[in-house]
Amino acid sequence: MTIEGKFTWMDGELIESEKATIPFLSSALHYGSAAFEGIRAYATDKGPAVFRLKEHMDRFINSGHILGFRDIPYTCDELCQAVVDTVAASKMESCYIRPLIFSDGSAYGLNLDAYKPRIGIAVWEMGIYLGEEALKAGIRANVSSFTRHHPNVMLTKAKSTGNYTNSILAKTESVRLGFEEAIMLDPQGYVSECTGENLFVVRNGQVITPFTASILEGITRDSILTLCNDMGIETVEKPISRDQLYIADELFVCGTAAEIIAIRELDFRTIGAGKMGPVAAKVQKLFHETATGKGARSDEWLTYVNA
Ligand code: PMP
Repeated sequence: MTIEGKFTWMDGELIESEKATIPFLSSALHYGSAAFEGIRAYATDKGPAVFRLKEHMDRFINSGHILGFRDIPYTCDELCQAVVDTVAASKMESCYIRPLIFSDGSAYGLNLDAYKPRIGIAVWEMGIYLGEEALKAGIRANVSSFTRHHPNVMLTKAKSTGNYTNSILAKTESVRLGFEEAIMLDPQGYVSECTGENLFVVRNGQVITPFTASILEGITRDSILTLCNDMGIETVEKPISRDQLYIADELFVCGTAAEIIAIRELDFRTIGAGKMGPVAAKVQKLFHETATGKGARSDEWLTYVNA
């Protein structure tokens, strides 16, 4: 059962979460004219700390801007403070944080300029997205029959809610087929990303991640590239083909919700030794230390809620 925070930030104030509702005819619900962010707060010795808050809120504002909202009613600093206030009010030690910008007003038309943007921020308790077993042993995935968006169709640098119809199609299909996650190819046929995660390949000691216009610029992806550089592991961003995944020494996915999870089998082919490999394990460990206040980059990347 998911436990929601008692309070939700809506239009500038904290209100009881049961009262944070929007009408059935809301345009955002009918047409996907909304964008969201996904952030985690981790438990540390100094209380809850939000991971890379500024980067997440910059991407949130960019998502609204890409979608076409003209008058985003709050600054990045105000929204960062709103996140801190919502986490503090929840009294949770760790949580998932969900800001949403959405078009207000009833669904009578498709011109965004007919609507005003509104913003809400909710929090809920979130453990390990794909389960404890997945975190230790890795998951089974398939290459989806669905293609990731062409950037001129859905504008892939925004976390707009409409983009996630594509993710829902792919994820549901993969789970119904008995896999835990889907890898999606871009419209040119190169490897793109997963339904809510970016992807990494390890081969001959190099950590490689897809370079294609169809991916979301993941903040965990960026954190991993940085942490690998800190550890002296060589990183490369380049186009990757499907068969290069099959012959990888290791594969792993990363995202705010998923954190870092190895893929042990893809399309019925064992990847590497068929379990989490040494590079993924090293990255997972340092990422977790950093997010929980024990890494060299913790002070740079964490916003302590009780500071
Ligand atoms: N790709 C997609 C499609 C996603 O939804 C996410 C989750 N936000 C990611 C990648 C990973 O991004 P991040 O590490 O910033 O959570």
